[in-house]
Amino acid sequence: MSEADAVPARPIEVLLRSRRVVTPTGTRPAAVAIAGERIEAVLPHDAPPPEGARLVDYGDAALLPGLVDTHVHINDPGRAAWEGFASATRAAAAGGVTTLLDMPLNSVPPTVSPEALAVKQAAARGRTWVDVGFWGGAVPGNAGRLRPLHQAGVFGFKSFLSPSGVEEFPALDPEGLAGALTEVAAFDGLLIVHAEDPERLTEAPEGSRRYADFLATRPAEAEHAAIERLITLAARIGARVHVLHLSAASALPLIAEAKAAGIAVTAETCPHFLTLTAEEVPDGATEFKCCPPIREAANQDALWAALADGTLDCVVSDHSPCTADLKVPDFGAAWGGISSLQLGLPAIWTAAEARGHQLDDVARWMSTAPARLAGLRHKGAIEPGRDADIAVLDPEAGFTVDPAALHHRNPVTAYAGRTLKGVVRATWLRGRPILETSGTSGAATMDGPGPGGARPAPEPTGRLIERTVT
Ligand SMILES: [Zn+2]
Repeated sequence: MSEADAVPARPIEVLLRSRRVVTPTGTRPAAVAIAGERIEAVLPHDAPPPEGARLVDYGDAALLPGLVDTHVHINDPGRAAWEGFASATRAAAAGGVTTLLDMPLNSVPPTVSPEALAVKQAAARGRTWVDVGFWGGAVPGNAGRLRPLHQAGVFGFKSFLSPSGVEEFPALDPEGLAGALTEVAAFDGLLIVHAEDPERLTEAPEGSRRYADFLATRPAEAEHAAIERLITLAARIGARVHVLHLSAASALPLIAEAKAAGIAVTAETCPHFLTLTAEEVPDGATEFKCCPPIREAANQDALWAALADGTLDCVVSDHSPCTADLKVPDFGAAWGGISSLQLGLPAIWTAAEARGHQLDDVARWMSTAPARLAGLRHKGAIEPGRDADIAVLDPEAGFTVDPAALHHRNPVTAYAGRTLKGVVRATWLRGRPILETSGTSGAATMDGPGPGGARPAPEPTGRLIERTVT
């Protein structure tokens, strides 16, 4: 700690004390001093609260930087029956997520122009429990709208190389991808890509209840081929690219080699790829359907190894809900998407701990790295100067997932009935609690609307955020 950190310059209003504070320099007993919306200092555990400051002692519960989930589909307006800003961001708060970035598709309009962005912002304003920003979309014919969208504050641009699932957000062909990369590179923007090669995908199996039939239609080679093309083009054009929801471990060497060669590529994977396996998907259980698909256990082991060695940067939810009636027990007809916004932290912590990882790793994958990807310099770490966004996690407590107790709009999730470790006791956004445990019990219970009985604050205090102008 530097001398400047030890002598707060602004009045401390809140002191959050814990024996496990996860900081960029390790996890240790400490007291997080908050002034206004920012972390002013990280003080010794026994530092007395300054006069007038509120002391909250969380005991052994860990303080993590609030999660930054850069991959969330809120679908509002247009498909608000699938998910909305209020329900999604309450789920986020209950899951320790303090910042999320909304994907440009599944809402109507999709976020492919500054006008559409304004419509999205109007739908979100005043209705978010956490801070919310927006990705734009790069689709055929909108190359001329990318720079204005960038100037309007989107964090980057999403594109598909295969059909997206909704007709208003078409995929880019190879020529279109090159064009989008060239345009985005011209203003040093970021292109984030759903990378599956349509030539290697086959039709979904109509009428099949067998997961293996669906998995066979979206082979690992489809991801490999698309990522290879993306990296080749990005290197040639000099564009910054990010691979979304990587599922196929066979593509990892492409990412590792590109990074080693200095190509500006990053990659994310998702809790479902890291905690669920193809072998265990029951017949007809289309709550497990997503694209790219959940693969076999051996594939999952390789994804964990890639997180450990830094080939994969981020773990984000790809929360992509729909109404329950669209999850028919037919892997061809069902909507693809997994709802997990509120469960990502316990799902990942449960599996990470079993594999010998620490809370520091989880904070890096789920907060620090996504914040860096989005250029959110005030988010993603517990250190002086950052926003006082904190997730309070009891890492030893467990709970069983009851979909009806989750806050997202439609009570469907692939995690139903699973026992997970890690209960979010409280969440702080910019120095104020947005989720607090209602009861006095420290035990894991299901007595409230979420795991642990914690409830989101009655009023939303989230802010709409824009890309930091550099
Ligand atoms: Zn997605």
